Amino acid sequence: MTRPHTFSGNRLDRAERERRDPAWIERRERDPSSVFLPLRRLDVLVRETTATRLDWRTSRWLAEMRVDGPRYLLGLSHGVAHFAVDVSDHPDDLDQDREQRFAELREAAAVLPATEAGIAAHARANVDWHARHRFCGACGHPTAPQRGGQSRRCGHCGAEHFPRTDPVVIVVVSDGDRCLLGQSRGRLASQRMFSALAGFMDQGETIEEAVRREVAEEAGIQVGEVRYHSSQPWPFPSSLMIGCHADALTVDARPDDVEMQAVRWFDRATVLRALAGQDPDLRVPGEFAIAHHLIRAWAEGEV
Ligand SMILES: [Zn+2]
Repeated sequence: MTRPHTFSGNRLDRAERERRDPAWIERRERDPSSVFLPLRRLDVLVRETTATRLDWRTSRWLAEMRVDGPRYLLGLSHGVAHFAVDVSDHPDDLDQDREQRFAELREAAAVLPATEAGIAAHARANVDWHARHRFCGACGHPTAPQRGGQSRRCGHCGAEHFPRTDPVVIVVVSDGDRCLLGQSRGRLASQRMFSALAGFMDQGETIEEAVRREVAEEAGIQVGEVRYHSSQPWPFPSSLMIGCHADALTVDARPDDVEMQAVRWFDRATVLRALAGQDPDLRVPGEFAIAHHLIRAWAEGEV
């Protein structure tokens, strides 16, 4: 791969050892050198000057703006603690100067430096998980964050809860000369847009088994060998896309009429034109998505 996937490349040290000490975290929350990334309803604060960057704020700014939303430690960079802070409940607009705004992460990631998009992905997934897990799944009592947001603990039964990452397999199937792409139902994308087949892994399944099941369900195609290619964090809300290529054993494609609008085989020349944005009948996802890179790797004969 010539370019890493969007949302990969978060270089923060997640401070596994330091975050075990609550007093250390408290000191870092007050430390004037620590920085905080505000998220409002999961949109991240960015500053747009000559380039777009995450708009990290200080503990002094949080105090001045009376921001008391929960802070979660993302990690350390050159000794500086980086936190996410959920400002969704703050009554005021916090993006008051003209260069600041809260940006939806898909849109922001297109213009942020790669490492910042990776940090923002972690922040978004973590803030979202905390907001959805305020009560214990075992006994129903309130939970509280610990280790700077790396987990939550139930105050009643003591159960520990950890942020989840949901694995999704995404696959480009080939019969040698053609690749199989699908169009999900309910997408707003154009009628010409086709992508790699994808689905959540079930419990007790290997990656290879999930690929074979999903392709059989969505397209009625039997799959033989499955090869791993690469993976992409996908913080909407917190998936990991596991990208694969696979060999078809059968060629008669029949779309699942609940999930899929269409599944079709496309030849290499058509796919290469679509990757260049020049095919009249086929569009494929942009470089933002792992699907693009899986399709390109197949079309260019890398796999
Ligand atoms: Zn409990």
